[in-house]
Amino acid sequence: MSVIVQKFGGTSVANPERILAAAKRAVAAQVDGQQVVMVVSARGAKTDELVRLAGEITDSPPARELDMLLSTGEQESVALMAMAVASLGAEAISLTGGQIGILTDSEHTQARILEISTHRIRQILESGRIVIAAGFQGIDEEWNITTLGRGGSDTTATALAAVLQADVCEIFTDVEGVLTSDPRLVPDARRLPSISYDEMLEFASLGAGVMHARSIEFAKKYRVPVRVRSSQHEGEGTLIVADGADVPGLLTGVALVQDEARVGLVGLPDRPGVMSRVFSRLADARIPIDMIVQDVGRDEMADVSFTVPVANLEAAMTAARLAAEDVGGGSVHERGSAAKLSAIGRGMRTHTGVAAQMFQVLEGPGVNIGMITTSEIKISVLVEQGQGLAALTAVHSAFGLERTQPGTLDVGHELQTVEDMGEAERDALERDVVARLTSMEDIVVSEVLLDEDQSRITLRRVPNQPGAAAAVFSAVAEGGILVDMIVQNDPAVGGGEEKTANLSFTVPRRDLESALLLVRECLERWPEAEVDCDREISLLSVVGIGLRSHTGVGETMFRALASQAINIQMINTSEIRISAVVAADQGVDGHRCLVEAFRL
Ligand code: ASP
Ligand code: MG
Repeated sequence: MSVIVQKFGGTSVANPERILAAAKRAVAAQVDGQQVVMVVSARGAKTDELVRLAGEITDSPPARELDMLLSTGEQESVALMAMAVASLGAEAISLTGGQIGILTDSEHTQARILEISTHRIRQILESGRIVIAAGFQGIDEEWNITTLGRGGSDTTATALAAVLQADVCEIFTDVEGVLTSDPRLVPDARRLPSISYDEMLEFASLGAGVMHARSIEFAKKYRVPVRVRSSQHEGEGTLIVADGADVPGLLTGVALVQDEARVGLVGLPDRPGVMSRVFSRLADARIPIDMIVQDVGRDEMADVSFTVPVANLEAAMTAARLAAEDVGGGSVHERGSAAKLSAIGRGMRTHTGVAAQMFQVLEGPGVNIGMITTSEIKISVLVEQGQGLAALTAVHSAFGLERTQPGTLDVGHELQTVEDMGEAERDALERDVVARLTSMEDIVVSEVLLDEDQSRITLRRVPNQPGAAAAVFSAVAEGGILVDMIVQNDPAVGGGEEKTANLSFTVPRRDLESALLLVRECLERWPEAEVDCDREISLLSVVGIGLRSHTGVGETMFRALASQAINIQMINTSEIRISAVVAADQGVDGHRCLVEAFRL
């Protein structure tokens, strides 16, 4: 029989009516012929209340006792839920994390799962009852209650779905699904029928996230299809699955972060170890960095820019000044306010010209592009703060995101069904899931990639005006060439009103000549501009989750490369990836040292 995991977040169990409504959904799924596991969070703002209450007793509550306290929120919810299910005439049993057998380490308030035993759950399901599991909690070897970190019920849900080989993990929440944009900014934002794990991860830290990024990464590893849906309205919600489904449009969504600040380091020595210094200073100060951009240097000097939340600007400037002193050169400049616009779409992997189209759209409302950074499925640009909203709306409508897309998706589930598995196999799977869960908490980086088939093209002294980037990338797109990494540093990085900008990008090596021809043609109208290229480069990327909130990843990456005396020529970033261009003959060494540095 197939298993379904249904997770209900705090707002979905806030009061008796909602608890009953949730119970009805579970019973309906059971009537439908499924074995049902509910994972339930604490009601409403219960966890916050409990934290506050503890704070009223003491400034430093012992972590063990805090867990004892916080876990009661979920315990209350599961008991009430079991009563609700019983009142509907079905049979259910509520279980705490300890009763299920979720064994964790003893890191109170952010414990990691060491073992999940499905034995008891399976027995209960086989006997026809609904299992109601308390989210967010476990138990350590000494029987102490532990919690998994705020928002941890999502992890409980996806982990249980993975070990139980559930057909789907439904996340019931207070939004109707994942939307094409923030509806407060774009009123005609629309629900997406489906999204890929990677797109969801790129979306996650942009505020569009309705789920814990880590639980999405986990679902991705185990190909657990996740459906985010409203607990209060009917509707299909959004299915999060691996790639495979066709997207009719080129973009899946657009997001805006309005209060970014930019720090620029200008005229740094262009040699190995410099970026490592810069990012270790920032990591020491625990500053969350967002976009990082370094364009190809010139005259043995390099410029690098990065953005931080406005609130961190001062600290970031101090760290940047210290770094400039460390490396013996370079000046530090700031831009106090800017907006970051990001367009996400898995269609970019296979369709050329998405960047060109986006830049063209921005030309319409006269938006000038400050910084550009891209990943395989995302393009981010930094624009003037006052233009952010216009830019967002323009891109959303130009790509037709407000139009409903027909079609639903097949759930791309590749795992075997449970019935096909022997006991030994099942145990092995459980161990594997748990091992992953544990190491996922340790390691943010999941992959290091080396691409040796790219060439780099750099344009210098392109007019710093709306439409310039659009012209360049439209020309390249006309040749059907897939542009990979795009990097533009802020033309105003040195603080002045620059009239020109530099722009670099990579293309497949076999397309270099045609790309150069197309670019030269387009440069004819800009007499000052010039182009150079590097036929052979190596592109190194580290991929993982929440890189933006882990300052240590950039630091580790750049330190590792510095230790091999590898100079970094270009950098760009996304939510889930940091890429660096290095000399062609250093790619293999670079890859090896990164694999070691991240212990992969
Ligand atoms: N109740 C916990 C929290 O509020 C866990 C969760 O909701 O996922 O963080
Ligand atoms: Mg909560």
